[in-house]
Amino acid sequence: MTNVCVILYVKKYAIQERIGMNYDFDGKVALITGAGSGIGRATAFAFGQSGASVVVSDVNVQGGDETVDLIKQAGGNAIFVKCDVSDAGAVNALVAQAIKVYGQLDYGHNNAGITNIQADEWKEDVWDRALSINLTGVMHCMRAEAGAMLQSGGGAIVNTSSINGLTGNPSQPAYVATKHGVVGLTRHGALKWAKQNIRVNCVCPGVIETAMTEAVASNPQYRAAMENMTPLGRMGQPEEIASAVLWLCSDQASFVTGHPLVIDGGATVA
Ligand code: NAD
Repeated sequence: MTNVCVILYVKKYAIQERIGMNYDFDGKVALITGAGSGIGRATAFAFGQSGASVVVSDVNVQGGDETVDLIKQAGGNAIFVKCDVSDAGAVNALVAQAIKVYGQLDYGHNNAGITNIQADEWKEDVWDRALSINLTGVMHCMRAEAGAMLQSGGGAIVNTSSINGLTGNPSQPAYVATKHGVVGLTRHGALKWAKQNIRVNCVCPGVIETAMTEAVASNPQYRAAMENMTPLGRMGQPEEIASAVLWLCSDQASFVTGHPLVIDGGATVA
């Protein structure tokens, strides 16, 4: 138990040190999927630090509970709701739970996703799974979140795409297709709900240091190759994506909708 507390304490200060955000989301409610780890955890923590009540969601219960603990230890307010985004009923129940506990939903960060570095994405089952989580999962979330936001006068949705949503990649057809799909869905949502005060944007991260890239990043040779591909000469940190998500949700981005925001250390312009 002592060890767990020490680990959480260290993680909390590691995250806080990297976040210098200054938003006031007091009285607002944010829902983040894939928040048990990586980019989702950093966004959930940042929302918690900015005064929002946070609905942390993931299939990974341990990771989700840990994110809630991190937020609470830093003085924030959060609950965990387990949800597989590929299951439409579970996503509807997730949003219903957010409304039941906090009374409203202002922001949705649809971020849960998988990659299949080891598997052949041309295989039907691998392809189907990637689509059901990375693309259909985002659709399920947007539909349920917008339904709730329409009841309360509006909100902001940010989806997680990737630079693979804008450029090609020779090794991951399903990942590339789903992330392009997320950009398309984002543009659709932006137009569909513009008159109802719901802004819809997406972030397109480059290579970010999370569990998803750990296998590659832990190999010094591969890591150096990834760093060399990026003009800024390093991998990004999850908090650097979280800060963009919070900006897109904030009133400071009040005229921004339908935008795929690239955060990649310059990789796509090199
Ligand atoms: P991560 O593996 O740390 O986090 C992904 C989270 O999604 C995990 O906690 C996982 O349990 C959860 N998840 C997986 N399947 C789920 C499902 N069916 N329902 C609900 N939750 C599920 O990786 P990350 O890098 O933080 O990835 C977050 C998002 O960012 C993903 O959509 C990913 O494609 C995208 N992204 C990551 C990078 C990168 O370099 N790390 C780059 C571009 C885009």
